[in-house]
Amino acid sequence: MFEVQHYVSGTWSAGNSGRKLTVLNPADDTPVTSMAVADEEDVAAAVRAAREAAAGWASTAPGARAAALHAAADAVTAAAGELAEIMQAEMGKPVDGARESIMAGVGTLRQYAELGPTHRGRTLAGNDEAIDLMAYQPRGVVAVITPWNDPVAVSCGLLGAALVTGNTVVYKPSERTPATGWRLAQLLAPHFPDGVFGLLNGDGPVGAALASAAVDVVAQVGSTATGRSIAAACARTGAKALLENGGSDPVIVDADVDPAWAAAQVALGAFVNSGQICVAVERVYVHEAIAPAFLDALATEAAAWEPQIGPLVDRRLRDTVDDQVQQAVKAGARVLRGGAAPAGPGAFYPPTVLADCTDDMAVVREETFGPVAPVVTVDSFEEGLKRAADSPYGLAATVLTTSMSHAQQAWRHLPAGTVKVNAVFGGAPGGAAHPRRGSGQGFGYGPELLDEMTVMKAVHIEAPPQGW
Ligand code: NAD
Repeated sequence: MFEVQHYVSGTWSAGNSGRKLTVLNPADDTPVTSMAVADEEDVAAAVRAAREAAAGWASTAPGARAAALHAAADAVTAAAGELAEIMQAEMGKPVDGARESIMAGVGTLRQYAELGPTHRGRTLAGNDEAIDLMAYQPRGVVAVITPWNDPVAVSCGLLGAALVTGNTVVYKPSERTPATGWRLAQLLAPHFPDGVFGLLNGDGPVGAALASAAVDVVAQVGSTATGRSIAAACARTGAKALLENGGSDPVIVDADVDPAWAAAQVALGAFVNSGQICVAVERVYVHEAIAPAFLDALATEAAAWEPQIGPLVDRRLRDTVDDQVQQAVKAGARVLRGGAAPAGPGAFYPPTVLADCTDDMAVVREETFGPVAPVVTVDSFEEGLKRAADSPYGLAATVLTTSMSHAQQAWRHLPAGTVKVNAVFGGAPGGAAHPRRGSGQGFGYGPELLDEMTVMKAVHIEAPPQGW
C-alpha cells in the first residue's frame, strides 16, 4: 500500500494531525493508498515555506526555470508506466488511457517550459525622453487544488504555468487519487529549490484551509460547488481565484447527419473515461427526423462500449450517478441500455442511454459524472440550440451538422467557452477557452494561463534632468 506524505521545505513527513484516509481500488475494493491528512499547522507551514522561497524563485532567470521544468518533464516521462499503474489502481482508468493522459501532462509541462521565457510585456514611448514598461511579474504563492478525474494532466498545466512564471506553489491533489499526486510530486520536487514546490494531502477541509490561507492565487480545477466556496474565500483574503469547474455539455444532432456516425460521436463523448470528463457529453438534443435511427444506433454503441470501460472512481460517485438515472426514469425517461449498477465488487456502472428525457431532469440539467447519455428529442435545429443554451453551466458544446449556417449559428449563440463542430473532442495543442457561468472563471490552459499566473506592472521612466 502506498504511504502518502506531505512535502514542505524540502522534507517529506506525515505532518501533525495523525489522521489518515484510505483509498480503495474501484475495480475490486482492495486498499491502495494510506494518505496522511494535513491539519491547519501543516497548511500554515507549507504556505510559509512557499512565501520564504518566493523572492529567490522570482529572481531566477526564466531560462533556468524552464530548464527545471524540462528536467521534471523528463522524470515524469521515465516514470509514466509506473504512474499510470498507480492512477489505474486509484481511479480505475485503464492503464493505456492513463499513460496517454500522463504523456499529455508531460506535453503541457514542456509547452510551458518553452512559452515561459518568451512571455512578454510591452513598452510605450510617452515622448522622446520617457519610456513606459509594462512588465509581467509573478504573483507570489499559488495554491494548486486539483481533481481526480485526469489527475496528472490537469495538475501539470497549472503547476507548469505557475512555476515557469516564477511563482512558488503549494499543491493539493484530490483525496481520491493521492498516491498519483504524491508520486508526481516526488518526480517534480528534486528539480526545484526547497520551498518552491510543496505538497499537502487532504480532503475538502484541507483544500478549504489552503484556499483561505495567505496565498496570492488559488487555482482550482474541480466541481462548481467547490469553485464557489473558493471564490468566497478569495473574496475575503484578496487572493485571485482561477476556477475551472463542472459542465453540462450539450450535443445538438441536426436532421441531416448520418445517425450511426452521430451515435458514435455521442457515445465517445459520453462514455470515454466512464463519462468522468469535465467536457463529457452530458445531454443530447436530437432532431425528431432522425431520432429513432439515432437512438437505435446509440444503444448499439453503448453495448459495444460496455466491455471497454473502467469503473467509476468510487461507490460514492456511482450512487450519485445512479440516483440521477433513477430520478429520470421515475419522471418518464426510457432506458434503452444500462441504467442499473451491476452486483459484485467495485464501482462499475454500464454505459447508459436514456430516451424521452426532459430539460428539468437532473440528469439533463446538472452534471452527471458517469457514462450516461440522456437524449431529448426536438422538432427543429433552432429548438435544440435554444434548449442547449439554457443551462447554469457554460463549459463546452458540440453541434453535429452538415449545414454551415447551423454551425455558424451554433458557435455564435451558444454561451460556452468552447464550441465544437462535427467532433465531440479535439482542439489544437495550446488552445484555451474561458469558461462561462457556473463552469468557472479565468483561463486554465494555453498561453493565456501565463497571463493569469502573473501580474502586470507599469513602470514610467524619464530621462534625468539636464546636467546630472
Ligand atoms: P471537487 O471539487 O470535489 O474536488 C476538487 C479538489 O478540490 C480536490 O482536491 C478537493 O479536495 C478540493 N476541495 C473540495 N472541497 C473544497 C473546498 N471547500 N475548498 C477548497 N478545496 C476543496 O471535484 P472532483 O470531484 O475532484 O472533480 C470532478 C469535477 O471537476 C467535475 O465537476 C469536473 O467537471 C471538474 N473538472 C473540470 C475541469 C475543467 O477544466 N473545467 C477539468 C477536470 C475536472
